[in-house]
Amino acid sequence: MNAGNSPLFSLPAVRCLTRRRFVQLAGTAATGLLMTKPLRGFTADEYRVDLPPLQEEQTEGEEPKPSPGDPPAERIGFAVVGLGHLALEQVLPAFNACKHSRPVALVSGHAEKARRVAAQHGIPANQIYDYASFDRIRDNPAIQAIYIALPNSLHAEYTVRGAQAGKHILCEKPMAVSVPECQQMIDACRQAGVKLMIGYRSQYEPLDRLIVRAVREKKLGTLREFVSANSIHQGDPKQWRLNKRLAGGGPLPDVGIYSINAARFMSGEEPSAVFGHTVQWADDPRFKEVETSAQFVLQFPSGFTATCSCSYASHRSQFLRLNGSEGWAEMDPAFAYKGLHLRMSHLKDGHPAIVEPGVESRNQFALELDHFAQCVGSGADPHTPGEEGLQDMRIIEAIYDSARIGKTVQVETPAAAIRGPDLKVES
Ligand code: NAD
Repeated sequence: MNAGNSPLFSLPAVRCLTRRRFVQLAGTAATGLLMTKPLRGFTADEYRVDLPPLQEEQTEGEEPKPSPGDPPAERIGFAVVGLGHLALEQVLPAFNACKHSRPVALVSGHAEKARRVAAQHGIPANQIYDYASFDRIRDNPAIQAIYIALPNSLHAEYTVRGAQAGKHILCEKPMAVSVPECQQMIDACRQAGVKLMIGYRSQYEPLDRLIVRAVREKKLGTLREFVSANSIHQGDPKQWRLNKRLAGGGPLPDVGIYSINAARFMSGEEPSAVFGHTVQWADDPRFKEVETSAQFVLQFPSGFTATCSCSYASHRSQFLRLNGSEGWAEMDPAFAYKGLHLRMSHLKDGHPAIVEPGVESRNQFALELDHFAQCVGSGADPHTPGEEGLQDMRIIEAIYDSARIGKTVQVETPAAAIRGPDLKVES
């Protein structure tokens, strides 16, 4: 089979494929060839895992060097607000892979922890704030932006206070715990003349973006359905994620939001109606306030549908499958920080062929931080602005409403743009 004849192979494929990665991928392909059983009626050769073609300059000569990025003094300075798991394990380490962003201050309620973390990341001890002194960031010109990594119900308060202090805001998902709060955040940032972006890291991931490109180029034909699950276990009944006031809900706004956002982002469509269902285990102390799991269908005006589920009481499962009339794209895992796995299928000579595009996953947090830093520096609008978070919150509220009344609920699609301009991702 000549991989070069396949329509999927004209995708951006191997921009920066190293020899080591080539050997890894070749190994994967060989394994695929050996392990993939032929479908009934197809020979093994017709149904095989294959690779995009390698171009000569990518296999020979020196490997391309990534651009070194801005000198530290020219990078956009971020204050990281909240030093929990996400901030310590993902966001702060991601600055090491950034080219336009650097951490310059911390905001935490734990002085000793903040001092230790500051020392680890080269942040001076006098650049630490607590939640009471937070508003003093207004007087600190080194802080141009803040990264909010607090429990969901605190996102609105710190966005508004941050905007009033004149700082640009990069806020974690879910944007807030209600539609009015999301709107309040958008209004506060607009009024203060600062940028607001929501941390939808998957939209900055090269593999997700490859799917979007395949959809736009009609490589999958007409989109028919999206199927996805994002489920994990939550143990400690005392944690904020199981407290309705702090979290806004259970797995739906926390992990189900990834499936909602991927269905919207990949299809480029907005759902016009949703049908939702929730399960809440009455006798489990973890689920006194929030749902154990949620199942929902999003209906899009074109006839495309997204059927999704999320849970706080299931073995980790994080996949998506986007089905079109002439192909599919599948990621499993789809929502992890790393180790994402993408496969695509299309018809070749009337038979299904499966490809594993040789595009490398990247540090999504670094890409997201640098995109926002570039927006702050250039004045451009972020790709995932507050309106993107507001739209997901509208859908989440509609799913809860539907689950409560047992009927399909219509979702309003605003006339104004929901998503900012397309991205240019640097190597
Ligand atoms: P976490 O519980 O590990 O950290 C929360 C931090 O907020 C802690 O440092 C805690 O001390 C602080 N805090 C301040 N006030 C608090 C209060 N009243 N109650 C509880 N904690 C308080 O949570 P996390 O996993 O780091 O999540 C933080 C945010 O990041 C959430 O909005 C979550 O949805 C989001 N998140 C995003 C991703 C992603 O992949 N984008 C992954 C995980 C979490």
